[in-house]
Amino acid sequence: MQVVEQIAAVREVIAPVQRAGRSVGFVPTMGALHRGHLDLMETARKECDFVVTSIFVNPSQFAPHEDLTKYPRPKERDLELCQSVGVDLAFYPTVDEMYPRGAVTSVIVDGLSTVLEGAIRPTHFRGVTTVVAKLFGIVTADRAYFGQKDYQQQLIIRTMTRDLNMPLEIRTCPTTRDIDGMALSSRNAYLSPSERTAGLCLSHALQRGAQMAADGVAPGVIAEAMQDDIEATPGVVLDYAVVADPWTLTDLTESQSQMVALVAARVGATRLIDNAIWGPSLY
Ligand code: AMP
Repeated sequence: MQVVEQIAAVREVIAPVQRAGRSVGFVPTMGALHRGHLDLMETARKECDFVVTSIFVNPSQFAPHEDLTKYPRPKERDLELCQSVGVDLAFYPTVDEMYPRGAVTSVIVDGLSTVLEGAIRPTHFRGVTTVVAKLFGIVTADRAYFGQKDYQQQLIIRTMTRDLNMPLEIRTCPTTRDIDGMALSSRNAYLSPSERTAGLCLSHALQRGAQMAADGVAPGVIAEAMQDDIEATPGVVLDYAVVADPWTLTDLTESQSQMVALVAARVGATRLIDNAIWGPSLY
């Protein structure tokens, strides 16, 4: 595995790969890697000839009060993990390399970026889409891999890719969970044992919601039940629990064949999100 810090070096490595007609798969991450990230890399490994990952804690997607400085950066361990799943090239840029002085361009996906996570973190998705657009321009992959764990994020990236005619395929991979159902997240490392137990209320609410949906209960009633479940958990503050249309993210009043349930809550100082797709697979 090669590790490079500079954009020019990425291009030098990838150009001959693409000239030889080999496909390139790309997994962007912020590091602090866990099994969920590695599953994305392994899927890319199966589907592509050459696998690139980026590890970059992107400042522009953090608000000033958020956890940018304390976000974990275990560089050596992350690179070992990338190597262990057969990544060919790890791009580990500095902030100056990604955002040189004078950079003034942003990418904004209207509408979808202002609801749910976007309502609570107003500048977040603008930071995500800007850095992902830059990374797509640097890596020029054939396919990029994202987790369903961040459902709204992958939907926004799909929309950006379509609207800006970016020549790559977006692949969305299932959420990797701990044995007890908790969605893996780099931020789970912030949780104390009791907070982690409390945080299970998100996946439990989604499981209960899935059963209600299977029983034909109306989406609004399911959303209220999920809200009640989460709010009833000591130490947890609900941000939202909704049942929405998977493409527009608008709240549903009537059941439809495919629905997405999205939940978010704060457990102590840590924000957790989770979701579930109900109905036939979307991706
Ligand atoms: P992050 O490092 O948190 O920015 O995540 C990088 C990528 O990994 C994103 O596409 C996430 O959606 C994905 N990801 C994070 N957690 C999981 C998980 N538990 N299962 C699957 N994908 C995940």
